[in-house]
Amino acid sequence: MMDWAVPLSQLVIEDDDLRAVTDTYRSGWLSMGPRTQEFEDLFSRFVGTEHAVAVTNGTAALHLMCLAVGLTAGDEVIVPSLTFVATVNAVRYTGATPVFADIAGLVRPWMSAPACEQMITSRTKAVMYVGYGGHAGEIGALRDLCDRRGLILLEDAAHAAGSWWHGRHLGTFGAAGAFSMFSNKNLAVGEGGVVVTADKTVASRVRLLRSHGMTTLTWDRHRGRARNYDVVALGYNYRIDEPRATLASCRLGRLAEENHRRAQLDARYREALGDLDVVIPLPPVEGLVSAHHLFTVVLPEDVDRDAFREQLSDRGIQTSVHYPPVHRTAVYAASQELPITDQYATRTVTLPMFSRMRDEQQEHVVSATGKALARTRCL
Ligand SMILES: *Cc1c(COP(=O)(O)O)cnc(C)c1O
Repeated sequence: MMDWAVPLSQLVIEDDDLRAVTDTYRSGWLSMGPRTQEFEDLFSRFVGTEHAVAVTNGTAALHLMCLAVGLTAGDEVIVPSLTFVATVNAVRYTGATPVFADIAGLVRPWMSAPACEQMITSRTKAVMYVGYGGHAGEIGALRDLCDRRGLILLEDAAHAAGSWWHGRHLGTFGAAGAFSMFSNKNLAVGEGGVVVTADKTVASRVRLLRSHGMTTLTWDRHRGRARNYDVVALGYNYRIDEPRATLASCRLGRLAEENHRRAQLDARYREALGDLDVVIPLPPVEGLVSAHHLFTVVLPEDVDRDAFREQLSDRGIQTSVHYPPVHRTAVYAASQELPITDQYATRTVTLPMFSRMRDEQQEHVVSATGKALARTRCL
C-alpha cells in the first residue's frame, strides 16, 4: 500500500468499536439478528423516517429500492451520468432503462431539474437523484417535478449520511433512499448499505427480497419464534451480518461530529483556494447541513489534469476523479449529449477530505495545489 502523506480518505476504528465488534463475535450469532435490528432502529431515528432496512452493501440497497417500488422492463428512469456506475446498474438490474440527464453547472454538479424534465417521456416511471458530495442540490425542485408529473422519486444517498436540507434528511424526500457504508463513505463499515422509506409496503418488500423472499428469518427460527417458511418472491441474499451492524451503530454515534469537522475543512479549503483560478463546486447554501463527503475543484481548461494530479501525487497527496461519467463507459456507451457533465468530468479533481485530517495536512494540500496549478498551466 502506498504511504500517502495525505490520503484521499482515512478510516479510524476506535477501541470502543473494536470492543463492541469483539463482543458480537463472542455472542454466538453472526448473521442478521438483534444487532442489525438495533442499528436499523438507530438509523431510522437518525434520518427521521419510519423504516430503515440494512443490507450487505449500497448497491444492494439501490437494487432492492428499485425493485420495491416496482421498476421493471419497459420503464424509463432518469439518472445523472455524473455518479458511480452502481446507481445506474441498479436501475438496469430491474430491466428498466436508465436515461441520463445533465448536471446543472460546474459549480452545481448535480442533476438539473429542468434537464431532467426534458427527458421525461410516456415511459418515464421514476427519477433517481444522487446527492453528489452530500449536497442537497435541486432535491426540492425535483420533488416538485415528480409530484407534478406523477413520477416516483428515488434517492441514491450514498454520499449523504448526515446531510439535511431544511431539517429533512437526504434520502427521505421521495419514495425511498439508499445509503452506502463502503470503506470510503462517511459512515463506513467496509461493506454495508441501508434502504430508508416512510412507506410500509416498500419497507416490507425490501425486507422480503433481502432474505431470499422467505417469510421467516433464520434468526426467528433460532429463537423458536417460527418453525417453517414459505418462499413468496424471487429474492436475494443481501443480508448484512451482526459484526458490521454493530460497527455501524457505534460509528453512527460519531457521524454528526465527524461531519462537523469535515464542514470546517470544507470552509478552510474554500477560503485558502479562493484566490486560485479554479472553480469550487458545491457551495454552502442556506438551509443545508452537508455531509461534505467530497471536496472537488474544477481546473481551468488549459491545465493538463493528469499532470496536475501527478504533481500532487509526487508530494504524497492522493487525489481522485468523481466520476468518469457513466454514459461514456463501455458498458453504457450512451449516445446522449451531456455537455456540462462532460466538461465537469474532464476537469474535476477530488482533493483529500476526511474528518481526521490535520490542519498541517490540509495546508500541505493547499500549497501543493497552488504550485501544481502554476506548473501545469505553463506546460
Ligand atoms: C459508493 C456508492 C455506491 C455503491 O455503494 P456500495 O456500498 O459500494 O455498493 C452507489 N452510488 C454512489 C453515488 C456511491 O458513491
